Amino acid sequence: MILKKVSLQDDPQLVNVKYEWARELLEQAIANTWFPNEIPLQEDMADWDRMTDEEKQAVTLFMSFFNPQEFRVNQSIAMGMYPYLGSPELVMCLTRQMWEEVNHSLTFEYVMSTIPIDREAAFNAHNDIPEMKAKEDFLLEHVEALRDGKIDPETTEGLQAFVKNIVATNIITEGIFFYSGFMIGLSFRQRGLMKNFGSLIDWVVRDESLHLQFGMNLVLTILEEHPEIATAEFAQEVREMILKSVELETAYNEVLIPKGILGMNCKFVNQYVQFIADRRLEELGFEPEYKVANPAKFMSAASDTVELVNFFEAANTSYEVNG
Ligand code: MN
Ligand code: FE
Repeated sequence: MILKKVSLQDDPQLVNVKYEWARELLEQAIANTWFPNEIPLQEDMADWDRMTDEEKQAVTLFMSFFNPQEFRVNQSIAMGMYPYLGSPELVMCLTRQMWEEVNHSLTFEYVMSTIPIDREAAFNAHNDIPEMKAKEDFLLEHVEALRDGKIDPETTEGLQAFVKNIVATNIITEGIFFYSGFMIGLSFRQRGLMKNFGSLIDWVVRDESLHLQFGMNLVLTILEEHPEIATAEFAQEVREMILKSVELETAYNEVLIPKGILGMNCKFVNQYVQFIADRRLEELGFEPEYKVANPAKFMSAASDTVELVNFFEAANTSYEVNG
């Protein structure tokens, strides 16, 4: 079984790999290796000087959210996932992910130490702005439920708590909150600003799309091994988590861009949030909720690489974990 109480005596070798998809994602992730200082930011510094206060504020709050959340994702992996994952290929894949999250933090650090962003405002915002803190708390609540070996992975409740943490970490934090941020970050490039910063975001997006695939595969595998946990009630709980995250993100975007920037208003950004949330719902096998068009066409092909799978509402016939 994919989840268990991990023992220090478990076989740590990559022999008889059981979850081949995890080893493939690990190899792909390693092939994607990059470092922030490969991209110089001089032109972006010149752009900064001609940006409006609202635009600068949006970049500052972008940093304020991403920088601590990269670390929170790692806490979720270390405290919420490691204690229950016995297969070395899964652990190695997550260890690689943790390096990537650190690399993302160092990337934002690199940007903040190059472009004259108000660091104090950036660092404090995730505690000072209630709408930002609410998103962070949403994630941590689910991590808290798992830490220190609190759940029993041999029970339905334990498995459901584990799945909810994957939904909170991979599917909502990385797959919805982050994509909303990426869309705003990449909008600057669409307007001819901060294009090197945009290249750094492209690399982060490429990493995050693999993290999202890992999370989706993990949910799928748990449900294949334990179909009894996917009750109608549990499916409804998961769906409601996603709808709740859209509310949190919508409220946050009203703080992030109260007046509109770069020809986008808050409604535009929130329509993208609804669009991406529908994608995540469909990937989990749910009916979409919002049924809106993607307002940010530049975000379509490049960033969404997760294949459709049906976890909750249909049989998993068209998708093979080892396919
Ligand atoms: Mn990241
Ligand atoms: Fe990630």
